[in-house]
Amino acid sequence: MKYIENYINGEFCAPASGEYLDNIEPATGNVYSKIPESDKSDLEQAVQAAEKAFPKWSAMSTEDRSRLMHKLADAVEAAGDQLAKAEAIDNGKPVAFAKAVDSYRASANIRFFANACTQFSSESHNMGETGVNYTLRDPIGVVGTISPWNFPLYLFTWKVAPALASGNTVVAKPSEVTPMTAYLFSKICHDVGIPKGVINILHGSGPNIGQLLVEHKKIKAISFTGGTATGKKLAATAAPMFKKLSLELGGKNPTLVFADCDFDRTVNEVVRSAFSNQGQICLCGSRIYIERSIYDKFKHAFIEKVKQLKIGDPLEKATQHGALVSKPHMKKVLSYVELAQQEGGTVLTGGKQVTLDGRCEYGFFVEPTVIEGLTLNCRTNQEEIFGPVCTIQPFDSDEEALSLANGTDYGLATSIWSNNLTRCHSLAKQLDFGIVWINSWLLRDLRTPFGGMKSSGVGREGGEEAMRFFTEPKNVCIKY
Ligand code: NAD
Repeated sequence: MKYIENYINGEFCAPASGEYLDNIEPATGNVYSKIPESDKSDLEQAVQAAEKAFPKWSAMSTEDRSRLMHKLADAVEAAGDQLAKAEAIDNGKPVAFAKAVDSYRASANIRFFANACTQFSSESHNMGETGVNYTLRDPIGVVGTISPWNFPLYLFTWKVAPALASGNTVVAKPSEVTPMTAYLFSKICHDVGIPKGVINILHGSGPNIGQLLVEHKKIKAISFTGGTATGKKLAATAAPMFKKLSLELGGKNPTLVFADCDFDRTVNEVVRSAFSNQGQICLCGSRIYIERSIYDKFKHAFIEKVKQLKIGDPLEKATQHGALVSKPHMKKVLSYVELAQQEGGTVLTGGKQVTLDGRCEYGFFVEPTVIEGLTLNCRTNQEEIFGPVCTIQPFDSDEEALSLANGTDYGLATSIWSNNLTRCHSLAKQLDFGIVWINSWLLRDLRTPFGGMKSSGVGREGGEEAMRFFTEPKNVCIKY
């Protein structure tokens, strides 16, 4: 049995409590490692280490900091195969997907912010003959990051990299559901010589160590990605303490398919957007609206493609659809399929747990599921399912498509499939989402603002936005 360790002040340590949680491999249902259940005293040590490391790390020239972060990115890239395999075991996602998406992005995130810190600048405001203002953007101090299980290392590094690049020291908490790659990452940080205390990684459950992290007085900012309900709790704790808070939360994303789309390409991409990572991406399009004139044709082509997705052992290269992350999550997803039927929906394909032969016999596999016949206001179309379940529905006009798309509390991402550019731009302007993809999905440029509106979050990550979040602006005003 492998025991994961915390990483505090450059050292690997057991939790002070001696308590561990089980870490389960979703494809088999077996406990395969143990996770520290960290507590207040681990946190205190981590915060002290981060505080001690801050003056030197924040004073380091950006060139030197950038060089060290490039070294870290190189090492993460070199470990790409190992990290992808670890992610596939820990999360249940197909190993080929983990290599192409998770591993790739983990090193890309670090490399991006290693470069960003050398380009980051601040403003000056000229007052003519009276004087001038300039803005200092200094690192905040010790910051906390809390990340989810769907892209364990990808989203972990998406926060930690800008925090470090802008000169902060970090106490990071990965998801207790998928802790392995953050642990492997701590070893890489150690090997490449990230100074001790600059990054500290504490494992454990959200309501315990996660909550303590948010409550800690000396942690000045929290960057969080996770569910909307958890985000609400975090905000309730952090707001009265006046902490800087970035919240990347859930989604219920609409996909708008128009009759003039590039049909074959759109079918393929809409399948990808609904079912990548077993539908466990905050950006997945789970409400698919199709213009009525092509509804039947699209429906049949779509279902054909969905049925072809190869469900299998995440460790097999040919697998396209792996296991869901945990048994409780699988149960939740299946309960929504049941609910959809109670609400009047018809399951067109999928809807059931899959039992595989061999080592994956007890894994948490669910068929890719397509449901028809529901209206906007039912729970299935309003609540985030976060699994391989989507609904399809026809629409008759651009106005109707727009009102369906905007008709939930969420506002993370949407995609429009049409060759009418005027329509695309007009809809893009009116859609209440942080991200609008046109004839694409999950096409990412790390410089762009990333995040959601409404119940999907507060603040933006990515590029300049992240560098600004992790720095405190100070205006200096000089009178001539
Ligand atoms: P979650 O909210 O259960 O957990 C996220 C993290 O928060 C975990 O590390 C968890 O341990 C921690 N946590 C839980 N309770 C806490 C508390 N009281 N205080 C502090 N930390 C706490 O989310 P999840 O199930 O891990 O992830 C799935 C959710 O994340 C989905 O809703 C998904 O849409 C969302 N998500 C959003 C984005 C985005 O960029 N907007 C990206 C990925 C996932």
